[in-house]
Amino acid sequence: MVPVLVSSKLKSLLIPLTRVVVFTGAGISAESGVPTFRGQNGLWNEFRVEDLATPQAFAAHPQQVWEWYSWRRELISKITPNQGHSAVAHFERFFSSFCLVSQNVDGLHDRAGNQRILKLHGDIWEVRCISCGLRRMDFRPVLSPLPPRCECGGMLRPGVVWFGEMLPSDVFERAVRETQSCDLFFSVGTSAEVFPAAQLPGIARQHGAYVVEVNIERSAAAHVAHEVLLGKAGEILPELSACLRGALAGPGSELAG
Ligand code: NAD
Repeated sequence: MVPVLVSSKLKSLLIPLTRVVVFTGAGISAESGVPTFRGQNGLWNEFRVEDLATPQAFAAHPQQVWEWYSWRRELISKITPNQGHSAVAHFERFFSSFCLVSQNVDGLHDRAGNQRILKLHGDIWEVRCISCGLRRMDFRPVLSPLPPRCECGGMLRPGVVWFGEMLPSDVFERAVRETQSCDLFFSVGTSAEVFPAAQLPGIARQHGAYVVEVNIERSAAAHVAHEVLLGKAGEILPELSACLRGALAGPGSELAG
């Protein structure tokens, strides 16, 4: 593993009073074994988005859509958060003003210990009734029969935001507000191709935040970043997390390890 070169500017911001937003995408979960959508081994190389992740697809073939979600729920239920997720949970404990904005639906940030999460694209563990609107969490990997039904008799759908659907406006507005008022913004493991979420790094930059991208390759948002740390989130974020321990220990102190 090549050591991460953390600039002195970034190091100077790794103190508890810095207001931090971490914006994550599928890349942070890739090392846990959750496939990303785009890129090598991405899900969209194998499946057509129109067939599976749109309201029209669900209306036409609810069982087929649910089978795909059941496959993903089962896959996610067998894996665990990785060191990248743990580092983000450490960030939340360290910075007094912290917000995690995630495009991920897998629940791995919750399992790693984050609590202040704005989920832009919903949660794969949530089910929502298309008749009465009831929402609840259901952590059973496989629901049977498919499609599952609500107590009211209506059909349940996955509680995720599909292509062509609006993001929950209150959640997105809060994400924008947090982004506008932070000092340090991390964009981690996202291709920054899905809008409106992909606007956030640019908004952060316009409002004066120091923007850092963490990705195995430069994303569509790399041009707005002050710093691009190229590498795996599961390797880079723990190194940044170690710098936080150094910041608490103060100059000249031994690191807690
Ligand atoms: P994406 O698939 O478009 O892009 C993934 C990004 O992660 C790429 O830029 C890739 O270079 C980077 N990456 C891959 N491995 C990495 C690693 N180990 N460390 C750091 N970066 C890595 O994903 P997206 O930008 O999140 O947008 C896709 C949409 O798909 C979102 O709407 C999201 O809701 C959904 N999605 C979610 C999950 C999940 O919940 N885990 C998985 C797939 C897709």
